[in-house]
Amino acid sequence: MNQNDIQTIVIVGAGQAGASAILELRANKYEGNIILVGDETHLPYERPPLSKDVILKPEDTKIEILSEQKLADLGVEHIRGNGVVKINADAKTVELKNGETVAFDKLLLATGGSARRLPNFDALGKHVYTLRNLEDSQALVPVLQAGRRIVLIGGGVIGLELASSARAKDCQVTVIEMGAMVMGRSSPRILSEFLLAQQRLAGVDVRLETQIADCRLEQNQQGEEVVITLEGGEELRADAVIYGIGIIPNAQLALDAGLDVDFAIKVNDNCQSSHPDIYAAGDVATQLRDCGNHRRVETWENANLQAGIFARHVMGVEHPMLNPAWFWTDQLNINYQFVGDMAAAEWIVRGEMNPEQRDASSFVLFGVTDGVIVGGITVNAAKEMRHLKKLISKQAPFEADKYLDLSQDLRKLVK
Ligand code: FAD
Ligand code: NAP
Repeated sequence: MNQNDIQTIVIVGAGQAGASAILELRANKYEGNIILVGDETHLPYERPPLSKDVILKPEDTKIEILSEQKLADLGVEHIRGNGVVKINADAKTVELKNGETVAFDKLLLATGGSARRLPNFDALGKHVYTLRNLEDSQALVPVLQAGRRIVLIGGGVIGLELASSARAKDCQVTVIEMGAMVMGRSSPRILSEFLLAQQRLAGVDVRLETQIADCRLEQNQQGEEVVITLEGGEELRADAVIYGIGIIPNAQLALDAGLDVDFAIKVNDNCQSSHPDIYAAGDVATQLRDCGNHRRVETWENANLQAGIFARHVMGVEHPMLNPAWFWTDQLNINYQFVGDMAAAEWIVRGEMNPEQRDASSFVLFGVTDGVIVGGITVNAAKEMRHLKKLISKQAPFEADKYLDLSQDLRKLVK
């Protein structure tokens, strides 16, 4: 299909990738119809503040990506609170919850993911929470009050960011993690140990390699509490439990439509699914990477980048190679940024890394494999991140005398 024959592009999912795709389509001179279909009633918004500023300073936090005016200026029809329930790939139509049918020339699936569930906790009803959307975050504001006993299940990014927010509100916080490391999926051991030490210094009771045997509600003098029995018999009592144990990609629509789905929607370099007119981007997409394997990246940047790839491919514009993956997390007033391969063979510190010191640390970690810089982490050193990105992209050899010498400016060393 020629670019000029594309009259209507339908985007399913009004989140990060969906909103970004609109901006990218218009930036790449697409002049046809765009129909954005969201199951949420909100305008597109960003999720990173949901575990941080929306809880800590709800009044001052803006999360909207595209205002109503901006959508109108971009000529977008936004269907809200009326999600897609079925894709008919052969007829090139989608069916909405209210029964209406919308036709497309190109379709982008940007449906994100949903919190993985723990049915035994969900069965307790009240006092049990997860976090994925704005309502989930707003529901936590009254829960996280000084003195409350909060148990977080999962020591991933959600668990640690919420532990940080809950401590800022003076809650008593326990984190239960099954694995031997916090943020074990996204961080190398050296940094994971630093994150753990910071949480413990801040008064968070982090339990590693800990399994839950049972949970129940009990009545106490103040009302109800959740009682969690750990394997081994110890009981933890909580006013609220929040769990963050990963996501399930919202790929059922694609699976039902006969697309190639393996947990997530399989896409090629151009973000095209197994149907040439149906694309996927963001948390729901698993993309074929250089290594020949499909990989899913659950980050804000990846949602934006894949939305850009989709838009450029539809418009017949070359897209650049994907940069090494980057993401950030903010915990306990410390900014962490990660880029490239977190499975690097060794990690080398530039600066002083003192896990026992709170707040003051500022350092850089180089991830090195076979003498080459393949990964990087900045801790309270965001301005060094772009230099690390360049070194990784250039596959620069690691030279200790240059890069570990603090009198040398990284900016000047990276040409
Ligand atoms: P989403 O932004 O989730 O958007 C998907 C949208 O599709 C949702 O609105 C959903 O309701 C809608 N949808 C689903 N099914 C349908 C349907 N059938 N019809 C219509 N609409 C549908 N990343 C970072 O890099 N740094 C961070 O600090 C960070 N913090 C985060 C904090 C939280 C609490 C969360 C939840 C995520 C965070 N992330 C962070 C990850 C980042 O926000 C996600 O990777 C990103 O939002 C993915 O974008 P997406 O468009 O794929 O999905
Ligand atoms: P996550 O980062 O995948 O972490 C989930 C953690 O829970 C893992 O450490 C996992 O351990 C553990 N876990 C799994 N089952 C468990 C159980 N039954 N009991 C105890 N621990 C268990 O996922 P998440 O923290 O839930 O985050 C959800 C989504 O939000 C992700 O897409 C994430 O990228 C996004 N998010 C991102 C940021 C950020 O980038 N700053 C911030 C918040 C949220 P194993 O690894 O051993 O299974």
